[in-house]
Amino acid sequence: MRLSQSLIPTLKETPAEAQIASHRLMLRAGLVRQMASGIYAWLPAGLKVLTKIANIVREEQDAAGAQELLMPTIQSADLWRESGRYEAYGKEMLRIADRHERELLFGPTNEEMITAILRDSAKSYRDLPQLLYHIQWKFRDELRPRFGVLRGREFLMKDAYSFDLDYAGALIAYKKMMLAYMRTFQRIGITAIPMRADTGQIGGDLSHEFHILAPTGESGVFYDAAFEAGDAAGATDLDAFYEQMTTIYAATDEKHDIAAWEKIPEDRRREGRGIEVGQIFYFGKKYSEAMNFAVTGADGSKIFPEMGSYGIGVSRLVGAIIEARHDDAGIIWPDAIAPFRAAILNLRQGDSATDHICDVLHENLGAEALYDDRTERAGVKFAEADLMGHPWQLIVGPRGAASGMVELKRRATGERLELSLPDALKVVGA
Ligand code: ATP
Ligand code: MG
Repeated sequence: MRLSQSLIPTLKETPAEAQIASHRLMLRAGLVRQMASGIYAWLPAGLKVLTKIANIVREEQDAAGAQELLMPTIQSADLWRESGRYEAYGKEMLRIADRHERELLFGPTNEEMITAILRDSAKSYRDLPQLLYHIQWKFRDELRPRFGVLRGREFLMKDAYSFDLDYAGALIAYKKMMLAYMRTFQRIGITAIPMRADTGQIGGDLSHEFHILAPTGESGVFYDAAFEAGDAAGATDLDAFYEQMTTIYAATDEKHDIAAWEKIPEDRRREGRGIEVGQIFYFGKKYSEAMNFAVTGADGSKIFPEMGSYGIGVSRLVGAIIEARHDDAGIIWPDAIAPFRAAILNLRQGDSATDHICDVLHENLGAEALYDDRTERAGVKFAEADLMGHPWQLIVGPRGAASGMVELKRRATGERLELSLPDALKVVGA
């Protein structure tokens, strides 16, 4: 992609409305623009990040055996009357009337809808278990939308739902999702810690929130330093993994247990702030009973399925990752989700050797490279590449180009390498 032909509207000035780094940087790096309070347009580079995150989430859901479907954003009020949540949800729900004055709503979550779908198609114990998910826009009319995409009103969520015949089955689904979450965050390149949580609007008995550590997080968090290693998702045995995740201490301030905390050796106690990027719930028969969804058991009995639901804030993750990974100069993207793996910085547009090397890099790296082919000063190109946070900068000037050399800068460490063109391509991963 040539920068001269791209819509990446970077800003030099810090936008006045943005209070925290990720919001400022997402606007300054040209990733998003606010269209109405808490409602954002994803510009091309921002959409690339969002799509890469969604794809990792999708692959790990698939690997856990979940099936993808796509439910609509608009739902009928009657569906929510069945569970009793139409009134209970309150002002956070965006309620809409169609031309026939039928009551609709923009879905804030999908427990009712997925239960209705299963009720319609699963009749026998043989039709369960089921584990399904979709990645779809949600709307919650937040009282105070803020911090950019971290607390939007319209936001992208992955939500999965499990249906099992008994508690043992539901617990397996819960453990599988916890493992899928830890793998997802590990692949994205961030540390997220599962913390025992309250169940809130969804209701139920067992829940964990997943928090990314960042000083601007809304929740106070307390955890054992054992989580810092970040290799927890390496476990292959599901029960051993779950045991490990739920015995090492981690809790948000709401669930903090001083007695348990004080049993951890003092040098391993960590206190900080966290951003919730996901939450999983087991809530039993809450919806199956309320919505009269039962299957017939082997002995002819009526079984109300045990359910769980599992959310990841896909769009919130973009902001949360930036909160955890930035410096004064800009964003520091993890390799797996950067909009471009590398920027090619041409320091002498029009010099034939320089142009040639840049063209070869550009051809080989394809869509993973952003080629800064503008006739701007080198300082401007360096500053914008730092701001946009590409994991690699490939710097090409006339002196190196004459001998076929490229300078590489690693954004995260500032480390610089002088390499031949083929070696540079190898390092960047073409
Ligand atoms: P919060 O406590 O931050 O309001 P929540 O607990 O109400 O979130 P859940 O119902 O658990 O949210 O939704 C699953 C995930 O969706 C959350 O973990 C979060 O990552 C994301 N999410 C929820 N609300 C928003 C929002 N307003 N903007 C962006 N992402 C959101
Ligand atoms: Mg939550």
